[in-house]
Amino acid sequence: MGCSGQDAGPALERVIGQREAIVTISRSAVIVWLKTSAEALAANKDYLTQLDSAIGDADHGVNMERGFQAVSAKLPGVASQDIGSILKTVGMTLISTVGGASGPLYGTLFMQMGAVTAGKLELTLPDWITALEAGIDGVMRLGKANPGDKTMLDSLIPALAALKSAAAEGSSLPSALRQSEQASRQGMLDTIPLVARKGQASYLGERSAGHQDPGATSSHLLLDAAADAWSKVG
Ligand code: ADP
Ligand code: MG
Repeated sequence: MGCSGQDAGPALERVIGQREAIVTISRSAVIVWLKTSAEALAANKDYLTQLDSAIGDADHGVNMERGFQAVSAKLPGVASQDIGSILKTVGMTLISTVGGASGPLYGTLFMQMGAVTAGKLELTLPDWITALEAGIDGVMRLGKANPGDKTMLDSLIPALAALKSAAAEGSSLPSALRQSEQASRQGMLDTIPLVARKGQASYLGERSAGHQDPGATSSHLLLDAAADAWSKVG
């Protein structure tokens, strides 16, 4: 009994180890996320622009695609740096290549994520929560929007809340990321009836209701790409 118990120990550890192999997000996983995001934004360029044509100036798809193509081009040059430096480069690239409101806002999101992950070569779930929270705080400071104003925050904030509850419940990293993606999807859909209080859509007043916010949609694409990328690559 005692002997078989001792034998089972390492075997059991191996099984658990396999099932929960992905406990951190490596540098290369961050790069895969950014590439996956660039592909998703390019594939949804027309869709994002169509959403922005209903309540804005029909450039969100073009903006995001341009910004993330520029990010993709920078990735080979920064892949060997720490995660904080990679994310700061993403932020600076978005600020310098994307016009409109979303360039500085997404730029700040990534710059702040980079600031709190400075020097890190991998991220745990708590690190990712800290990063997303810092990014969201930066977006809120810059854009002065609150939850319910019909912006990207309405997708990002529920995603952060879901990550925190998943972590508190002891969820695995891939499961927490998927729960976060699902919460951001719901937050994105919940922007449809809202009246915009920030950005170009706010000029429409009540007429902005009945349309999904473009920025909440692109934020959901980023978090969906994270859940995809980080369930496959450790
Ligand atoms: P612009 O509105 O300058 O044309 P984009 O079309 O690229 O820029 O981005 C529009 C998106 O930016 C909106 O759908 C919204 O989600 C987001 N946004 C606009 N203003 C703010 C703000 N103050 N805070 C957070 N997000 C904002
Ligand atoms: Mg626009």
